[in-house]
Order: sequence, then C-alpha cells, then structure tokens
Amino acid sequence: MGITGADRGPATLREDAVTALRAGFTGQLVRPGDDGYERARRVWNGDVDRRPALVARCADVADVRRAIGFAVEQELVLSVRGGGHSAPGYGTNDGGLVLDLSSFTELTVDPAARTVRAGGGVRWRELDAATQAAGLATTGGTVSNTGVAGLTLGGGVGWLMGRYGLAVDNLLSAEVVTADGELHVVDRDREPDLFWALRGGCGNFGVVTTLQFRLYPVGPVLGGMVVHPLDRAAEVLRFYRDLCPTLPDEAEAYCALLTDPQAGVPVLALLLGYNGPLEEGEEVLRPAREFGSPLADLVGPTPYVARQSMLDEPNAVEGLHRYWRSAFTETLDDDLLDVVVDMAAGFTSPLSAVLFFYVHGAATRVPVGDTAFAARRTQWDVDVIGQWTEVSESARHVEWLRASWARAEAHLQGSAYVNHIAADDAPEKVRASFGPNLDRLRRIKGRYDPANLFRLNPNITPVAPQPRPPAD
Ligand SMILES: Cc1cc2nc3c(=O)[nH]c(=O)nc-3n(C[C@H](O)[C@H](O)[C@H](O)COP(=O)(O)OP(=O)(O)OC[C@H]3O[C@@H](n4cnc5c(N)ncnc54)[C@H](O)[C@@H]3O)c2cc1C
Repeated sequence: MGITGADRGPATLREDAVTALRAGFTGQLVRPGDDGYERARRVWNGDVDRRPALVARCADVADVRRAIGFAVEQELVLSVRGGGHSAPGYGTNDGGLVLDLSSFTELTVDPAARTVRAGGGVRWRELDAATQAAGLATTGGTVSNTGVAGLTLGGGVGWLMGRYGLAVDNLLSAEVVTADGELHVVDRDREPDLFWALRGGCGNFGVVTTLQFRLYPVGPVLGGMVVHPLDRAAEVLRFYRDLCPTLPDEAEAYCALLTDPQAGVPVLALLLGYNGPLEEGEEVLRPAREFGSPLADLVGPTPYVARQSMLDEPNAVEGLHRYWRSAFTETLDDDLLDVVVDMAAGFTSPLSAVLFFYVHGAATRVPVGDTAFAARRTQWDVDVIGQWTEVSESARHVEWLRASWARAEAHLQGSAYVNHIAADDAPEKVRASFGPNLDRLRRIKGRYDPANLFRLNPNITPVAPQPRPPAD
C-alpha cells in the first residue's frame, strides 16, 4: 500500500519521447519548471508533497490512450486523478506520470429517462447542480468537491444511500480505457465482469472517462445538525447508537465530534437528513431533535445542494494538511464511545474531527456478490480525520491521530470502506475490505491489468487467468 520507493519514476524523462507525445497530444502537458506546475502537482491533501515528472491534462479519450501508452513505454508510475481527494494522495507521485482528468467535464442530464452522463473529472457539486436543475439527484458524496469517478469506483456513500443505495448501485454504464489503451463501453450486458469490478474495485481497472447514473426526483430535503456540548456527548452518543437501527430508509443520521468554529470548543453534532416529504421527516427526526438539551438545532427544509455541501467547511478546503484513519463497525460499544469523547477533548487541531456514517437501508440489501462493493452490512463507518494548517506541526497532529486510533481500533472491525483506506493500513485490512469479492477482483484484474499499471489505489494484485482445460 502507499507510495514506496519502488513506485518512484525515473529522475528524468527522455526528451525525444516527450516530444513525440506532445506532437499528438490535444490537452496540456505540464513539467517541472513550467508555469502552473506547482498547482498541477498538488492534491487536496496538502501533506502530500510529491513531484511528478509529467502531468498530462487529457482533453479527450485519444489523449488518455496516449498518456497510458507513454506511462507503459517509459515504465512510469501512473496516478489517475479525478477530483484529487484521495487522502493518501494517489492522485500524484514522485517522478512519474499524473493522468489528470479535470478537463473531462461533460454533464448531460436526460430528465425524461432520469439519467446523467458525467465525465471522469466531474465533481459532485457540478453533478448535483446539473441534476437539481431538473429536480433530480443520485447518491453522491457528502463533501461537494470530491470527484464523482473516484468516489463511485470505491462504492460511494452519501445522504441518499438508505433510500436509493450507494453510488455504484445507480451506475448504469461506464466508458473505461484499460492498460492496453483499449476503450470499453461496459454495463450489465456488455463486458459484465469489468462493469462488476468497477462498482467497488476502486481505480484498479482503468481510466474511467464517462459514467452514467440513474436519477431520482429529489426536492428540498430536511437536513441540518443538532449540536450538543461535549460534556453531554457520552449520553448523546449512546442515544445515537440506539436511534440508528430504528430509522426508516428515508432517514440518515451521521454524527461528528468537532470544534465549534465560533466558540472554539469541541462539541458533538448529530447530522440529520430525511429524503421524503418534509412533514414526514419532521416526525421521524423529532426524537433526535428533542433528546437532551442541545446548544443549537439547525435542522430545517434545505435545498438538496445545500445539504450536499453542509460538511464542506473545512473539509473541502484544498491544501490543508491531513491524516485519516477509518474502519467499519456493526456495534458501538460503550468503551468506544468514551474513547471518542476523550479524543475530542484532546483535539490537537480545531479542524480535526471524528465521524460516524451510518450505512443502512437500500445500501445494505444488495447481495454481496452483485457488485464488487462487499461491505453490504448495516454498520457505521468510523473516521478519525486529522486536519491542520502548518506543515511544521504535522508530526504533532499525526502522533495524536495515531495514538487516538490505536485506542479506537480495538473496538472496530478489521475492515474499512475501501475509499477510506489509509496508505499505512495493513495489507490484511485491505484484503478484508474487499471481502469475499477479492478473488474474483484479482482474476478480473489479471485479465485487464496483468502488469498492475493501475496500482496507486487500494491495490488489488492481479492473478493470471487460468488456461482453459483442453476440450474432450
Ligand atoms: C473531504 C472528503 C470527503 C469525502 N466524503 C466521502 C463521502 O461522503 N462518501 C464517499 O463515499 N467517500 C467520501 N470520500 C472518499 C472519496 O470517495 C475518495 O477519497 C475518492 O477516492 C475521491 O475521489 P477523487 O476522484 O476526488 O480522488 P482522486 O485522488 O482523484 O482519485 C482517487 C482514486 O480514484 C481513482 N480515480 C479517480 N478518478 C478516476 C477515473 N476517472 N478513472 C479511474 N480511476 C479514477 C484514482 O486511481 C485514485 O486511486 C471523501 C474524501 C474526502 C477527502
């Protein structure tokens, strides 16, 4: 996992090879020393400080094929960058090639068919704005500038998942360029194995240039947070644990320990949503709003796009320094809840947070083998996110997070949401996170990416396809 010395590219590129690439390339090639290189090498996580030899900002599928061919010929480590939000920084590297899809911005909404086609570089805020213009939406990320492609390829948890499933459950088709440079148009009928693998296998199988999703009518929604003081957090967390299993598919309840930006003190926030009639939502969410003595109740009718960006501050801010650990759990035991309250009391940065995402409803009813996304259980995705502004303070905040995580991990499962796997998570945790689908994923990887070109991701090691037994 992660970017090791073996994943570094050569110190210099062959000039004749770059000249040949440039001759046929429609997009932009950015190299060290060029204007814009500093911006082009950077990703969302400012703690990732790497210097690729070349950033290929592809303009079309032909450019994607050329960039892949160049990486193969020149034996360059390859990063595929959609929205750039991989916390371990898979969207950049040292000495290799970054295939940047930020120019893949197609968004075509078909209101009658209730579908949207999105380019491989589109971010959720753009997709949500386009689909909401037609009163429609699909399950997407909870921070508005994450990439549609990267988030979907790992599964895609979000505010609509209880009612409409994960992002992968609404993916109808995809266009993907594989390691041999071939473009494949895949869906349930066309190359179903590859389509299956894309729905939870992360970026292991190729460069996705277009995704098509199913949409649903989604009007203004009930949403917002209920804020409690930290000294009541232990009891509110116990209430939250017992509340979640009672929720209908339409309701979402996440929970965060974070620092109140105005008061500057740690607080607990219940993050609530309802995807149905507003008055029905008022009833369903009432117990969560009436429990205890909140400092503030900010729940109310909200435009869908506003709820989609409710967690943007500070999580959407590009360039902050970050370190993130995560795991699933089907139970929240008292000791874990006490540990997270302690963590919040000892936050070393006011930007850090502990988050609980409750995964339930339609997202959990899809059979494990139907898509590559294996974690089809009713459970919490628990995330401890360290965020800070100064690189000189990185060691202190990372140390806090590692020590906090060591206390929490004993109470969590040995698997995680694949999109939240850290670069320093153990290989057995990566394997456990792909679960029973790992063997099939490895065989499909062996067919489409036998040399493991696409390896800067939660990596699936390829196994060679077995030769067919001779016919009788
Ligand atoms: C602030 C924040 C909030 C988040 N919230 C959520 C959330 O609500 N729900 C959720 O499910 N996840 C969430 N995530 C996790 C997120 O899904 C992953 O970080 C995801 O990988 C981000 O995708 P990206 O395209 O922005 O990242 P990038 O860094 O560009 O890519 C990450 C990975 O995806 C692959 N990839 C990206 N685009 C393509 C493409 N077009 N073709 C092939 N491979 C591609 C890359 O190979 C790379 O391995 C969040 C992450 C952050 C940082």
